[in-house]
This record gives sequence, C-alpha cells and structure tokens, in this order.
Amino acid sequence: MTGGVVSSLGKGIISASLACLLKARGFRVTIQKFDPYINIDPGTLNPYEHGECYVTDDGHEADLDLGHYERFTNVRTSRANNVTTGRIYQSVIDKERRGDYLGKTVQIIPHVTDEIKRNVKLLGKTGEYDYIITEIGGTVGDIESLPYLESVRQLRWELGDNSLCIHLTYVPFLKAAKELKTKPTQHSVKQLQEVGIQPDILVLRTEKDIPVAMRRKIAQFCNVAPDAVIQSIDCASIYEVPMRMHDQHLDEIVLRKTGVGVQGEPDMHLWQHFLDKMHAATEEVNIGLVGKYVELQDAYKSISEALFHAATYNDRRLNLKYIHSEKLNPANVDEQLAGMDGIIIAPGFGQRGIEGKFVALKWCREHDVPTFGICLGMQCMVIEYARDVLGLPEANSTEMNTTTPDNVIDLMEEQKSISNMGGTMRLGAYDCHLVPGSTAAKAYGTDHVKERHRHRFEFNNDYRQRFEEAGMRCVGENPATHLVEVVELPDKRWFVGTQYHPEYSSTVLNPHPLFLDFMRAAVAYHEEKNIEKFAEK
Ligand code: GLN
Repeated sequence: MTGGVVSSLGKGIISASLACLLKARGFRVTIQKFDPYINIDPGTLNPYEHGECYVTDDGHEADLDLGHYERFTNVRTSRANNVTTGRIYQSVIDKERRGDYLGKTVQIIPHVTDEIKRNVKLLGKTGEYDYIITEIGGTVGDIESLPYLESVRQLRWELGDNSLCIHLTYVPFLKAAKELKTKPTQHSVKQLQEVGIQPDILVLRTEKDIPVAMRRKIAQFCNVAPDAVIQSIDCASIYEVPMRMHDQHLDEIVLRKTGVGVQGEPDMHLWQHFLDKMHAATEEVNIGLVGKYVELQDAYKSISEALFHAATYNDRRLNLKYIHSEKLNPANVDEQLAGMDGIIIAPGFGQRGIEGKFVALKWCREHDVPTFGICLGMQCMVIEYARDVLGLPEANSTEMNTTTPDNVIDLMEEQKSISNMGGTMRLGAYDCHLVPGSTAAKAYGTDHVKERHRHRFEFNNDYRQRFEEAGMRCVGENPATHLVEVVELPDKRWFVGTQYHPEYSSTVLNPHPLFLDFMRAAVAYHEEKNIEKFAEK
C-alpha cells in the first residue's frame, strides 16, 4: 500500500479496512507499517511531530496507525509490525561491524533494500497469516521513500502473483472551477511507474462522488483495470470505510488478483451491528478530556476511539470536549467543566499543564463526576489526593519536582540507572491483580488482567497505607513487583485511575470493559441530572 499526491489521505484506514474485510472472509491477516524516518521508533518523538505513540503488547513504541490496525481487525500487533529506516540502518550497520558483509562495500542497493525486504517478509515466515498488508509510510516522490519503493519493485519479481500493489491518491475538487481533477493522480502513478512499480488497484480519496466515466479515464491513463479504480469518499466515521470498500468489491479484487477464488460474502454482521448502533444513537453523552495537546487531537487518538466505542455500545453519541489543562484554573474550572457527564485526565510527560489537571481533579472529586485518570492522569489523581486530603501540600511526582518532600509518585527503582531515553520506559503488557469487588474488577468481570504500559514513574508504596486509610484504595497491583496499577475512590460515582493504558486495547468488536463501565456511569449521571432538572421545573 503506497500513497501519493499528499500525506494524511488515510492509508492506515484503507489498509485496516481491507484487512477487516479479508478477516471477515475467514483469512488470517495482519498489517505492518514501514516508516521512512531515521528515528529508531516514534517513542522519542514529540506528539506534535507524530501524534500519539502507540504501544504493542511486546513493548514496542509504535506508529499510531498500528492502533487503527488493531481496532479494525481485533488482531494484536507486535514489534515486527512497525519498522523504521532507523531500525533498517541500525541493523545494516550492526551487520557491517560484525563483518557479515565479508569485505563488500555496503550500499543502499542491495544491502539496505535486502534488509527492508527481509523485514517485509518476516511476519510471513511465521506461517500465522494468509495475507500481510504492508503500508509504506510517506508519499511517492519523497527522497526517504526511495529505498522502500525499490524494495517493493524487487519484491514484485520475487513474489509474482502472491503480491499486489495498491496505490492511494487524491482527487481534489476545485471549487472555483466546480470540477474534480485527475491530473495529480496521473502524475503520482507516473512517478510510481518511473521507479518500476505498476499499481494493480487505485484507491482515490475524494470529497465528491467521482463519475464512472472519470474513473474509467483514470484507469486508462494509469494502466489499471477499470474495475480496480475505487473511490474513497469522505465518511462521517472511519468505521464505515470497510463497508464502502466492500460495496466497490475491494476485497474481491484482491482475492482474484492473488489467485484465490471468491466465495460468498464477508461476515460483517457484528461490525454492522456496531454501525447500526452508531447511526441510531441520537442522545449525547458529554465527556471532557483534560490534557495539554488539545490543538492536536491525534495525540489522544486511542483514547478518543475507545471513548467512541464505549459511547456507541451505550447507545449514545459521543460529544468529546478537549479541555486545555494549561488554561484551567480555579476561577474558570466551573465554567469549563460544567455540563460534563464524565472527565478523562489524560496521560502525558513533564510539568506543563499539570496544575490544571489538579484543579480539574479537585472539582471532579467535589462534584462527584465520573472520572477516569490514565497513566499521568492516574498519577495526578494520587498527587491531588495527597495534597488536598492527606494534607501534604507539596506532594508531587519526582518527574515534576526532584526535591519534593512527599514523593508520592517516584521514579521506579530499575529506571534510576537508565540514561538512554529511547525504548527504556516500562513498556508493554504486564499482569495486574484486581481486588475482588472493586469498581475495576467488577467492570472487567475478572480479577486478573493484562494491560499495556508506558511510563517511568510509579505510585510510591511507602505512602500506600495512608492513602488506603484516607479512602483512596489501591485496587490493582502487579503480582511480581507489587507496583500499584489501579487506584479508586469507592465512595464516588466512578473515580478510577490506571497506571496502564487501557485505551490501546479497545477495538470495534471488543470495546474495553473499563471504558464501557466509565461510559455507563457517565450516561447514568447524565440521566440523573436530567431527572433533577425535570423535578426542579
Ligand atoms: N510521565 C509519566 C511517567 O513517565 C506518565 C507517562 C504517561 O502518561 N504515559 O511515569
């Protein structure tokens, strides 16, 4: 899967939609993303550069598209599903130092391209999949993408009919001329052909319906079969895209072109059930997300998607308000949070915006609004409670203040000797035991869960007894290390903080139980307020 004309066309969504359809036809599918930048992984990237950093079960800090892959396919991804130029080069240079190249001059072709091809084929070697979709990040024509496209060209020869190329382009609508324009697509395909790749299928992103005659013209100019030119028109929800792709037989074309017979229809009835609920939901649920990256909504992608899944299954339309933590203060918190049925306190790093999170948390506690703290959000719950209830006004995390007298959140022991920043946090899935009867245990319906982490700091167990006695209960714990993973205030409507990131594992067909339960509480609170309003009248 390559992309042309402009970035951000949604290659990830098209890849995920195709995978979703093939999976619904009974095939075993996974998707991998190759990112042409030199960072080893996006873990050290600022969210302004690259949006959210997604984390796989095996502890890889990954591109956020892997989140879409999991949400659409229900198939877990791993380190092997996301490779960057940095990792390719690192591996080539390691081999050179080991002497593996036996004195040869190490070059882009064949050494870097061989390394790319080896990685492309890696998941196929496991025998676990029938189809592997490989998304090449960036846009055709980028200097960085060239070794990847050359690898695709070579792979087409090696794999023959076992491979095909889908190219995603853009057909802009010129308002002044009132016309859709195909030229950028023609140029983009030409660029692909210049490096030796003939696309088999074209997917055209568009805001308006592209007439059949125009699609035929594109097919002719681009040397593609007329029925293999598909449009991807803007949808109200990304979750409708698989259906729109199926309407135009994308899954069937792929099966035919790879020599697999087309039998029957994909079983999309559970997916359709979700879409039906989504379309039927008219009443809103108002959720506020308190964080510092509000201008950049990709920074909280998995959280907003998990909230959307949970709202839909609760038959509500999600009205998500992003609340800037840096701008929140005691004078405006009432006006900012009023009307919210539930509040999320977002994950994050560093001091900026942290005081606003404490202001929000105090307000949430005092107004008894359903509140969900995630990672840094959970740590803020602990700090705010220590300051306001335990009477420790200078309580803090040592991330924010290294000399705080009350380090209720502290650097984990094993983090103290670490100096390299890349890939060294506590990452990936860890076990967590839940106290039976706690809100969290009831929500999950089990006392033993496994969830993904991404942090260096942790609840300081020296303070545990004082918190428990005052009313904040530590209801989730790692059985091996006794690290506190979940805290809650049982006397509130719903007040839970998780050190881990449950949002990473919410999918369309498997919405996350904690998000579902939080949403249930938010909806109940919304109803309660309505009844009160009605009674007042
Ligand atoms: N900055 C905090 C830590 O490292 C929380 C990280 C997060 O929210 N992902 O522990």
